[in-house]
Amino acid sequence: MPMRRMTRQRKAVLEVLQSTRSHPDAAWIYQEVKKKVPSISLGTVYRTLDALVKEGRVLALHTGGATRYDAFTDPHPHLFCTSCGAVVDLTLELPHLLEKAQAQNPGVEITGVRLTFEGLCPRCAAQSLAS
Ligand SMILES: [Zn+2]
Ligand SMILES: [Zn+2]
Repeated sequence: MPMRRMTRQRKAVLEVLQSTRSHPDAAWIYQEVKKKVPSISLGTVYRTLDALVKEGRVLALHTGGATRYDAFTDPHPHLFCTSCGAVVDLTLELPHLLEKAQAQNPGVEITGVRLTFEGLCPRCAAQSLAS
């Protein structure tokens, strides 16, 4: 039954994404999901990711290279590593940033905030200290 297979593929994609905080791209997700659902195609993985993003269950991060995906949708800023391309979650309180921006820009309707930092991930930072 196609419906049942859809559900299983969708569940597998979401589970793989929830198992990591490395913000993988679709190619990596495809490799991992294949271990659970060997018959899945890369196209199905892309379509499933698109649907999950539209439903707000997954965030798509546009890094300049391949789109990266994040199953943790609570607002949190990211650091894009300029050396290896890693995407790292940052801990940072963002008090009323959205409300402030809305108050100062009454002509637009602000629905969300995404904050991205650039720098070095822990691995690259350690390497640059060591050299
Ligand atoms: Zn790095
Ligand atoms: Zn994240």
